[in-house]
Amino acid sequence: MVAEVIVDISNSEVDKVFDYLIDGSPEIRAGFRVLVPFGKTTVEGYVIKVKECSDYPLEKLKPIHSVLDEYPVISTEMMTLMEYMRERYHLRTVDVLRLFIPSQMRGGRVKELTVKYAYLSPEYRDKDVAQFIRASASAQMDLVCHLQEVDRESVTALNRDFSAAALRNLIARGIVLTEEEESLRTPYKKIEGGENKKITLTPAQQKVVDRLKSDEHEVYLLHGVTGSGKTEVYMHSISAVLERGKSAIMLVPEISLTPQVLRVFRSRFGDNVALLHSGLSAGERFDEWRRLLQGKAKVAIGARSAIFAPLTNLGLIIIDEEHDSSYISETNPRYVTHEVACFRAKYNDCSLVMGSATPSIDSYYYATTGKYKLLELPERVNKRALPEISVVNMCNEVYDGNNGLFSRLLLARLTECMDRNEQAIIFLNRRGYSSYMMCRTCGYVAKCEQCDVSLVYHKEENVLKCHYCGNRYAVLDECPECHSNNIKRGYVGTQQIVEQLSALFPDKKILRMDNDTTQNKDSHAKILGEFAAKKASILVGTQMIAKGHDFPDVTLVGIVDADMSLHFSDFRSNERTFQLITQVAGRAGRDEKLGKVVLQTYSPNHYVYNFAVKNNYKGFYEKEANLREVSKYPPFSRIVRVLVSSESEELASRTLKGIFDEVTEISRQKRENFAYFGAMKSPVKRIQSKFRVQILMRLIGENDEIDDITKEVYCVVDKYTIPKASVFVEINPNNLS
Ligand code: ADP
Ligand code: ZN
Ligand code: ZN
Repeated sequence: MVAEVIVDISNSEVDKVFDYLIDGSPEIRAGFRVLVPFGKTTVEGYVIKVKECSDYPLEKLKPIHSVLDEYPVISTEMMTLMEYMRERYHLRTVDVLRLFIPSQMRGGRVKELTVKYAYLSPEYRDKDVAQFIRASASAQMDLVCHLQEVDRESVTALNRDFSAAALRNLIARGIVLTEEEESLRTPYKKIEGGENKKITLTPAQQKVVDRLKSDEHEVYLLHGVTGSGKTEVYMHSISAVLERGKSAIMLVPEISLTPQVLRVFRSRFGDNVALLHSGLSAGERFDEWRRLLQGKAKVAIGARSAIFAPLTNLGLIIIDEEHDSSYISETNPRYVTHEVACFRAKYNDCSLVMGSATPSIDSYYYATTGKYKLLELPERVNKRALPEISVVNMCNEVYDGNNGLFSRLLLARLTECMDRNEQAIIFLNRRGYSSYMMCRTCGYVAKCEQCDVSLVYHKEENVLKCHYCGNRYAVLDECPECHSNNIKRGYVGTQQIVEQLSALFPDKKILRMDNDTTQNKDSHAKILGEFAAKKASILVGTQMIAKGHDFPDVTLVGIVDADMSLHFSDFRSNERTFQLITQVAGRAGRDEKLGKVVLQTYSPNHYVYNFAVKNNYKGFYEKEANLREVSKYPPFSRIVRVLVSSESEELASRTLKGIFDEVTEISRQKRENFAYFGAMKSPVKRIQSKFRVQILMRLIGENDEIDDITKEVYCVVDKYTIPKASVFVEINPNNLS
């Protein structure tokens, strides 16, 4: 028999599949990891197929060196998924396969952890110690008495508490026996399940759960406002799945930001829950992964990569906060989690639920076309009110001589909140690190004339650039609308805010949470834990504090510069702003006390704010979808970006030119499918000393037409895969810099 093996080497642009003889290992099937001879060395590889014969003469084939695990690490389902992802995202097989297993398994960098236990041989268990230990050997005596009491204890613990020499001696004499047992490393041990609160579902929740329990296996979009009890719906549905002997996956954007999710899941499902995410130690990840593979845990929770949980017999997949951008992978291998989830749901004939208070425009659009089925939870649990949002026009503050970071209203509300000993969250929007230019007198923001997205200020070159078409514009010295010279560029940082707040409220404790303060694995949990325990009065932070937290004593949320993401140069910036405001605002008033939100902006009449203030998601959706349809942005088109990067600027340009010419040919033949097509320097010209150039297109038409063109582009790109230049294609990228 012959095995097709994908060898796991990273410095190659293409997949290398080789045939090897299966000699002494008849158990080998597709999905096994093996060690194979390769050149002068041996390398790891994955068996992707077993066949009778090879195109090469059998005597020329080398045999597989050895099998690395006792079980196949990749199931038939995952093999099918691998094919799908390879085609759809134009990925190397080996890059996809690597997603499916804990990375540290490669190269044997993680192993099962075994613990050695010592116990008394049965014949000595109930015997009087004096009969077999000399009275003078008191160390041995102590040890035997101890083991008679406890039955069994780890050798490590015994060596710590008793004489190691005595233990060796007893083992040598056969009085003490040892056995090895596997020990599992559990992530976030401290997050234990508390008591399992029995919650009666509201009628609205019940209706959703009933639908999910039914035999109508569909892709559902669950639109439920903040605090509508979506988590409870997920847990009830998972319980039903487990009762039928099936398994479930639940994805959350970033589990370290939402430790309470893990807590409630552990209290409901105990050891049946396994956690998968990149923040775990290699050992923890490996052990959790194996518990799922072996069926010892049936509920996988985790960030994006948990969609590849090695579960069989899936009964439900959940993507919580489905609008979150973390579900779209931005580095190789690039993929869209929703699509992978759809594939697995279909393969397992189960439902997929995507939940959010602010669904992405794409998902809601699919819910209107019938591709997804819409489920709704329009009210908070117990009819609690959604927070009241006040919009402050910062231009007026400037006009009245207040040039500070905080408006008068925010300061007044903050003072009240502090006086009442309640808690506040101050949110600073830092979507993207690029900055825009804005008039502080009238709120005017420079936009691209062609693309209608905000221009980005590039400090090094001192120009404004459009990230969609590459056009460059001179920086503003004076506002073209009102002729004021008060032009703002750049942004403020969280640290600045904390400093100013400390000066204003010297006896209040203030916590900061952003990229700088959360470098450690446990720092998220620590900061959130302190705030939850009311050890601090104000939490200042970026995007990370917007997600899913449930702090009952927070009654005020201040949004310092809401516009920051509004003017981010991306067609999704309105959507992101609406989502952020709704999510951040949703942190206020989750318990009995009513929550208040102060939103500071220089564009108070922007429709995003009008809809957000009224909690009118549908209104916002209609307006936004309309704009996108007119200007042909997703979901009404597909953006395809080809990015070429190389240390040689000349090579990058030449490669891009070659691809551009061929794609131009395609665009001539299929003119009606190209809403936009152009080549340009990337907005960020150099990253890590590599020059970057790109081609952007927006494709429209029927799905299969668009698929065909995408495949043609893939083929062109393949032709230009050469050493020293890297070329990749992205579909609907999140980020165009
Ligand atoms: P969401 O995820 O929709 O924002 P959560 O699931 O966090 O909302 O629920 C908000 C709060 O309401 C939580 O504290 C939760 O325990 C509580 N809750 C959910 N469902 C019920 C219910 N049926 N009865 C009482 N409390 C509930
Ligand atoms: Zn102006
Ligand atoms: Zn433009």
